[in-house]
Amino acid sequence: MQIPQTGLSKQEILSMLSAFKARDMDWKSGKVWCYVYDAGEDPADVTKEAYMSFLSENGLDPSVFPSILKLETDVVRMVVNLLRGDSNAVGHLTSGGTESIMLAVKTARDKARVEKPHITQPEMIVPKNAHAAFHKAAHYLCVKPVIVDLDPKTLTVRASDMEKAINENTILLAASAPSYSQGMIDPIAEIGAIAKKHNLLFHVDGCVGGLHLSFMRKMGCEVPDFDFSVEGVTSISTDLHKYGYAAKGCSVIMYRDRSIRKYQIFACTDTTGYTLVNPTALSSKSGGPMAGAWAIMNFLGEEGYKKIIQKVQDAAKKMMDGINTIDGLYVLGKPAMSMFSFASDSLNVYQLADEMGKRGWYLQGQFSTPAIPRNLHISVSLGNADNADALLKDLRECVEIVKSKPPIDSETIKSMIAAALQSPDPEAAFGQLADSAGLSGAELPTEMAFINEVLDNLPDALCNVFLVNYFNDLYV
Ligand SMILES: *Cc1c(COP(=O)(O)O)cnc(C)c1O
Repeated sequence: MQIPQTGLSKQEILSMLSAFKARDMDWKSGKVWCYVYDAGEDPADVTKEAYMSFLSENGLDPSVFPSILKLETDVVRMVVNLLRGDSNAVGHLTSGGTESIMLAVKTARDKARVEKPHITQPEMIVPKNAHAAFHKAAHYLCVKPVIVDLDPKTLTVRASDMEKAINENTILLAASAPSYSQGMIDPIAEIGAIAKKHNLLFHVDGCVGGLHLSFMRKMGCEVPDFDFSVEGVTSISTDLHKYGYAAKGCSVIMYRDRSIRKYQIFACTDTTGYTLVNPTALSSKSGGPMAGAWAIMNFLGEEGYKKIIQKVQDAAKKMMDGINTIDGLYVLGKPAMSMFSFASDSLNVYQLADEMGKRGWYLQGQFSTPAIPRNLHISVSLGNADNADALLKDLRECVEIVKSKPPIDSETIKSMIAAALQSPDPEAAFGQLADSAGLSGAELPTEMAFINEVLDNLPDALCNVFLVNYFNDLYV
């Protein structure tokens, strides 16, 4: 595309934009079990208007836009209070969970640079079920991720294994409440005690659980302490654009006190330009996401959130119970809220996801790890909770269809991979493998089962190279 010589009309533009969505999955009908958190028409309307009313205000400079400082401090304080931080606790709004986590890691790294200058190669200890954002933070910030695998019985990390991984280079412990992948809460209180004993920072990733679990606790559900009430917890991330039902582009990073948070803030006056002070990663940023979050939290209120959570939890329980009664499928572990995953010992779940896809459902495939078999992920939220029965019905039928189909020949794929690894020109051999998996060129794949089969059988490092090359081709 070129910039048009003469501008188009609003009508033309809007109809073109709408046409772009023709091949998208239909999230509005509640058939996509991840990515979108829809609070319904009225809340979405309030969010949209609030967002648009701050579209052009710039969060870069609170002296010019005190309104944005007010929005940010109000939202942070609401979340800090819910997560039982005291008046010393502080925080910032960020663009999402990834930015919140990257900032927590940067803060730990920069605090260690000042207080533990002997550490030249900082390490952070991260359970295997933690979100990839920790790996991304490690990669960007030159902190080594030390990965602790899960207890194969409980499918959660053992606090004692985390402690064993501590050495003189450790600057940070991390854990999730709950993890996105299987929806289980790590032993936060035990890890907190270890963090305190070793005088280490401890980040709790509450990106999905921060609001939802806290309201569940207030509703009388049994929820283990995971927030600032646990002494050793020094920072928490909580996404508002997930179970806060805010518009995308809003998460909170919180610290127990200012003495930690100060390492997050960056200032620079060493240029010919304006004085730059950035507490978060972005510099110029729209006030829209902040106003949207402020609006939805005030619109729903605690009562509104509790009503949503009741409905979501009822649906999630029905779905987990239902899946466990389908022959060949089982839910992994003991999920704490409304995110979970399920696996199968008798069929290929990636084929099942494709079969469900033909009926308009999107279930997210996840790869196997030493303790966890390959599985499909489901996030239940208000926008899809009404479809629990419909999903179970189609799952039952699709399981039978997949059982009657020829399975994907994973033995042949494994030997192709083994041969490629031995090949004198591995790059070409893997290129061919990518072609046959449909992972090349500028076209999006329609069926994922074969691709997922190849990727799940590749060593992680190679799998990542595959995916980087694929995206490098996909985007111009
Ligand atoms: C979604 C998620 C993240 C990453 O958040 P983004 O908003 O997608 O950047 C991190 N941790 C957990 C537990 C998540 O669910």
